[in-house]
Amino acid sequence: MRKHIVAGNWKMNKTAEETLQLIKDLKSKIKTSNAEVMIAPTAVNLLSAVNSCKDSEIEVIAQNMHFAENGAYTGEVSAEMLKSVGVKTVILGHSERRAYFNETDESLAKKVDQALKQNMRIIFCFGEELSDRKAGNEETVVESQIKNALFHLDASAFKNIVLAYEPVWAIGTGETASPEQAQDMHAFIRKTLGDTYGNSVADDMTILYGGSVKPANAKEIFGKPDVDGGLIGGASLKAEDFFAIVNAF
Ligand code: PGA
Repeated sequence: MRKHIVAGNWKMNKTAEETLQLIKDLKSKIKTSNAEVMIAPTAVNLLSAVNSCKDSEIEVIAQNMHFAENGAYTGEVSAEMLKSVGVKTVILGHSERRAYFNETDESLAKKVDQALKQNMRIIFCFGEELSDRKAGNEETVVESQIKNALFHLDASAFKNIVLAYEPVWAIGTGETASPEQAQDMHAFIRKTLGDTYGNSVADDMTILYGGSVKPANAKEIFGKPDVDGGLIGGASLKAEDFFAIVNAF
């Protein structure tokens, strides 16, 4: 079923101590909400974050994982390891992973398969670059990113997938897609899913928007009919800002 989700992607921020402090601040503010609330601290802090969120509404999720089950992959973290510390959801395909760590549609398809095999939920990110949008190619790019990484799956797999449309030009830049641009792309994504998998998969899909969401614009973006929530970077690092965004629902 379609859900409202607000997920904070902390990226490479917050030490062990700072992680616990931010969680404490969030817990004191977020008691009940109309959205599922998630935070993605860095891998070394996942266990302590899971423990400290146990008595709260906040789900702790991971920013990344490796596609192999285990083995000689120095520095990497597997799905099984994430599950063993209580993490059940993983972000895959973030544009920073694609840009700086050479993640491709092909390697992401393997990560998707491994996560699903381990019964994890996925927040799958994709989005066009500024040059794509300037050339009017944003739909073609987004369609191929989704199709290449996900369309080998059976329809039933999509109940464990959340999509996150994140135009690269809006991430960390202060420049947000307009609510209309977000709505248009989300509707296109839903149609793309529907054309292949049918209306019930498309209607049930939760599609998040990410890219410079802040307290001042969250309500308007989340108010669009095909926008089901947000993946929040910078504004998730301050308790009051993240709380305000959660409350935009
Ligand atoms: P931002 O990041 O909110 O800082 O633009 C969003 C993201 O990268 O998920």
